[in-house]
Amino acid sequence: MTQSAPEKRLYIKTYGCQMNVYDSERMADVLRPLGYAVTDEPEGADLVVLNTCHIREKATEKVYSELGQLKLMKRRKADAGGTMNIVVAGCVAQAEGEEIMRRQPAVDLVVGPQAYHQLPELIARTHRATGERLSADFAADEKFDALPTERHVTGVTAFLTVQEGCDKFCTFCVVPYTRGGEWSRPADAVIAEARDLAAKGVREVTLLGQNVNAYDGCDGGLAGLVRQLAKVEGLDRIRYTTSHPRDMDEALIAAHGEVEALMPYLHLPVQSGSDRILKAMNRGHTAEHYLRLVERIRAARPDIAMSCDFIVGFPGERDSDFEATLSLVREVGYAGSFSFKYSRRPGTPASAMPGQVAEQVMDERLQRLNALLQDQAAAFNQSVVGRVAPVLIEKTGRHDGQIGGRSPWLQPVHIDGPASLIGQILPVRIEAATRNSLTGSLVLEPA
Ligand code: SAM
Ligand code: SF4
Repeated sequence: MTQSAPEKRLYIKTYGCQMNVYDSERMADVLRPLGYAVTDEPEGADLVVLNTCHIREKATEKVYSELGQLKLMKRRKADAGGTMNIVVAGCVAQAEGEEIMRRQPAVDLVVGPQAYHQLPELIARTHRATGERLSADFAADEKFDALPTERHVTGVTAFLTVQEGCDKFCTFCVVPYTRGGEWSRPADAVIAEARDLAAKGVREVTLLGQNVNAYDGCDGGLAGLVRQLAKVEGLDRIRYTTSHPRDMDEALIAAHGEVEALMPYLHLPVQSGSDRILKAMNRGHTAEHYLRLVERIRAARPDIAMSCDFIVGFPGERDSDFEATLSLVREVGYAGSFSFKYSRRPGTPASAMPGQVAEQVMDERLQRLNALLQDQAAAFNQSVVGRVAPVLIEKTGRHDGQIGGRSPWLQPVHIDGPASLIGQILPVRIEAATRNSLTGSLVLEPA
């Protein structure tokens, strides 16, 4: 009888956006055939992967402090006669590979976002030599072609990357430099992955891309892809993120009114409500253009929940520009949003612009914006109280006998009910709301 090799423990820590969450899952898929099983704890792991984010300075600095902790764990494991390999993946790896190797010698391998399909080979190489660093100049299509077609899924919702990279070059943003130009996966590959997910019990997919609505992997762009995905047996809900206002075309707006599986929720970042700042950001649209776009989207799908990203304190932002942002927020009325203080990213045009805004001013603006956005989120959640909404039951709740799911508008919903309902879409009467979530009870079907 042959004995199977002992399981190796793999710990992956993910920073940043949903695209990194997807990439981390795919890294685990790539490493599983080598005997690696995912663990929740870095201590004692055989392989640790930090899947990093470079979008803001804070996200980058967190990686270096985590590496400091990992260095100690690696030493403890070596003292006990074992080995721990440390891999830095993702956008910090792409942007600062050499710097990482220099600042933290405990790192064995640095691998950018387009090269993780090569992890098995690269890890084997680091076992033979020490500290090999990879320059990650691969094309996205090579990566997707080389990934295992099978995905390991545990839940009833899943991310599915369909587009990578960005050609927009907003003056504050590192994405075009770290993730490269816009590229779309062919629709056939996306549909095949969606079918595999649905066969494994996934009922909702969120299509991902840095500019997902720039997708051009089939006729009709993202709208065409959504219409094809809506026909996949077992897939009942489709979402997508993140969209750029410039790529929000009529076909996609129409799909929101016509495709039942396309959920009424849209994350459409505007960043600022001031035309002067939008121009300096190179966003390629005005506040008015954005507002009219929202109007058209709401005409197609009146109950759509809108969410957004905002940056406060972009270089040169005056009080009047910030007031314009508040006024846009009031006019749109968001269900939820993310707001950030401008973070100066080396190499981006905005980092060299005059008029960098003082930290304290940014703090005050962020606080005021957040207060408004939180009020709007609370009001939006309150607006569904008393209604019956279809909820996809996703998991058990925090307390015994509790389950949790999501409404069509992406609100978390807490319900009393058995775990056996996970995976079903059930009518729930919404009884109460906070800023962050809803509570409701199952509407029992008549006998
Ligand atoms: N492609 C999307 C778009 O155009 O809106 C966004 C992708 S980006 C990864 C996510 C968000 O990070 C952006 O919408 C922006 O609000 C924020 N962000 C990007 N660079 C930033 C910076 N230098 N400082 C602060 N926030 C930033
Ligand atoms: Fe960054 Fe702008 Fe591209 Fe979004 S559109 S990823 S903010 S450069």
